[in-house]
Amino acid sequence: MKTALITGITGQDGAYLAELLLSKGYHVHGVKRRSSMFNTDRIDHLYQDPHESNVHFKLHYGDLTDSTNLIRIIQEVQPDEIYNLAAQSHVKVSFETPEYTANADAIGALRILEAIRILGLTKKTKFYQASTSELYGLVQEVPQSERTPFYPRSPYAVAKLYAYWITVNYREAYGMFAMNGILFNHESPLRGETFVTRKITRGVARIALGMQDKIFLGNLDAQRDWGHAKDYVEAMYLMLQQETAEDYVVATGITTTVREFVRMAFAEAGIELEFSGSGADEKAVVKAVASPDIKVQPGTVVVAIDAAYYRPTEVDLLIGDPIKAKTQLGWEPKYDLPALVKEMVASDLALFRREKLLKDQGFQVLNQYE
Ligand code: NDP
Ligand code: GDP
Repeated sequence: MKTALITGITGQDGAYLAELLLSKGYHVHGVKRRSSMFNTDRIDHLYQDPHESNVHFKLHYGDLTDSTNLIRIIQEVQPDEIYNLAAQSHVKVSFETPEYTANADAIGALRILEAIRILGLTKKTKFYQASTSELYGLVQEVPQSERTPFYPRSPYAVAKLYAYWITVNYREAYGMFAMNGILFNHESPLRGETFVTRKITRGVARIALGMQDKIFLGNLDAQRDWGHAKDYVEAMYLMLQQETAEDYVVATGITTTVREFVRMAFAEAGIELEFSGSGADEKAVVKAVASPDIKVQPGTVVVAIDAAYYRPTEVDLLIGDPIKAKTQLGWEPKYDLPALVKEMVASDLALFRREKLLKDQGFQVLNQYE
């Protein structure tokens, strides 16, 4: 039976990966941060009472900015596999917190690699680094593959560039099984609420239920290659089961604008949109609704632009070439974009129906995301 350590276990990918590894019989250890509120919502269903026998799931307090803590956890767990998913993962936020982002996302990866080396685990422990399509940044070529040059466009991407290369360097210098999964954007009902897809599906649900008037967004022209997180954690697992450590792109090979994602998400909730204007004056107005239960009238503006959501430097176009992952790993995604949108909208509609019921019945629920 293998033992895995997942940093970032409380995040979107950490939750899906923990579920996958437990289903394969792994002992799963996770690093969670101390927080003033519970931050384990995504993994609470996996929790096992430590007082019971045969416990396969354990959390450790820790932080990627704290080397001694990481060394102690890795020493205690003696993992066969480490999945380094922890990061300040938001591109826009990285412009506000560039130094912290570098500390956690760049030096954090180094701290784990050094811990493996210091503890003499270089032959035992395989290391997965959560690299990102943001590394490609300013478009050099499409589709982007393992051979496409990098040109990062945010403090987040620059930090991840360091983590990418230090992983390659430790592989070459010390013969470690250390590799990068260069994953394109992947989403799910568990996606963080401020990433564009989830911001849209939450907004759609709340508008359809009469809980919100409109969504303010930034650049609708950006194009992303969106997949489902459940499919992408499967690829992470497959990468660490290989004989030799190599870097892989994981993507769908299809790109879509943010505008089209907006249109699809509203359509999924029975709201047809019409876009007008351009740049900061662009708007989306309701053209028709599919049922009288939908609490928004035709003619209402439901999407407007707020320049605050533009990035100082943008990544305009991401489209990945997953041929290596497909041929060498036998990886095949099960979801396409329409299925992803359908699942996300259905999940947020269910979430906000519950919240609305509580509100309508007299409980006050403060919305922390407004
Ligand atoms: P999330 O933002 O959902 O999760 C990030 C996780 O990292 C959370 O568990 C968070 O803890 C934890 N974390 C943040 N800072 C620290 C720190 N200093 N020390 C310890 N833990 C920390 O990200 P995703 O699950 O979406 O992504 C997983 C990884 O993959 C990230 O590294 C991300 O950059 C990368 N990636 C993601 C892509 C995507 O489209 N989702 C695409 C390509 C790469 P807490 O819950 O307490 O905040
Ligand atoms: P990213 O690709 O890792 O930056 O993931 P995001 O989901 O944060 O952003 C995807 C794209 O959507 C980027 O090109 C953003 O500029 C664009 N976008 C447009 N409006 C918004 C918004 O309101 N929030 C976010 N997060 N992104 C937006």
